[in-house]
Amino acid sequence: MKDSFGRDIYYLRMSVTDRCNLRCVYCMPENCEENMSEKEILSVDEIAQIVSCAAACGITKVRLTGGEPLVRKDILEICRRVSDTPGICELCLTTNGILLPQFIDKLQDAGVTRLNISLDSLDPVTYKKITRTGTLDAALRGIYAALEAGFLAVKINAVLMGGVNDNEIRELLELTRKFNANVRFIEMMPIGETADWAETRFVSVSRVLELAPELKEIGSEGVAQLYMLPNGIGTVGLISPISSHFCPTCNRIRVASDGKLKPCLHSSDEIDLRGLLGKALEDTIKRAIFEKPRKHTLDDGEISHSLKNMNQIGG
Ligand code: SAM
Ligand code: SF4
Repeated sequence: MKDSFGRDIYYLRMSVTDRCNLRCVYCMPENCEENMSEKEILSVDEIAQIVSCAAACGITKVRLTGGEPLVRKDILEICRRVSDTPGICELCLTTNGILLPQFIDKLQDAGVTRLNISLDSLDPVTYKKITRTGTLDAALRGIYAALEAGFLAVKINAVLMGGVNDNEIRELLELTRKFNANVRFIEMMPIGETADWAETRFVSVSRVLELAPELKEIGSEGVAQLYMLPNGIGTVGLISPISSHFCPTCNRIRVASDGKLKPCLHSSDEIDLRGLLGKALEDTIKRAIFEKPRKHTLDDGEISHSLKNMNQIGG
């Protein structure tokens, strides 16, 4: 359905847990003792009800995210219920990849068609520094498993951090010569853990084009501008939430794992869906879509007003 500014809102990002098997420095505190208990996060039934009512409001695409969605024991049941929902045409999942090898076939059977996998570094020491608890080998095993499994699309997401991984831009984009994947560079957003980071940590995606002027623009996909290297087989995506303002074409709403709907990533507005069923749930989602803010606070040079950390929202 259209919101009050005429934008078509058809995409729901559903966070299924705030827990994670990694502790990325830009996303989660190192000692995260505030994770919700199993009883506090949305149950499979609650997720299915929300997705069904969202579909009745015109949502056709769902992304499951977290925290790390694959740490949820019932993730496959969630995938099945969501992909079986009438009106939902596309089910995507965002993961850090660590648990992918054991899930890969089952995810496809459960209806997941597209995977986004986070990989901020190809250097084992830097990867460990960023994720605090992860190993590069495990993440790469997940990526290889996804590439072999034949999903409709595999995207590899790297958040750019000045002085941390911006020296690896070339190496990361060279992956598109070897693999038919979409390697996407994402500008880090000042939210939660990164709200007070030094400005030097924020790297514009234009840096990728400076370092690789041979990249040829081939169009856009969602919020990403797409490019290809000469002789590349995959594509390179640039996502610039900071340097360009994509609020006018925003197409999404988010639901956090505590059942709060966020009409805008950087707004403090949260609408509690918990306890609502049927028409009441559908009407609440409809109203939230219609009243989605025109733009977020970062567009005015302000800080994010989000009340949640990224691991609670899902990116
Ligand atoms: N655990 C999964 C993963 O890492 O892919 C899914 C959840 S994670 C919160 C979703 C995405 O948000 C990841 O691609 C991550 O890199 C991104 N993200 C987290 N914090 C961010 C920030 N401050 N700025 C930009 N992207 C961020
Ligand atoms: Fe976990 Fe993903 Fe956040 Fe990293 S970015 S801490 S993998 S939720």
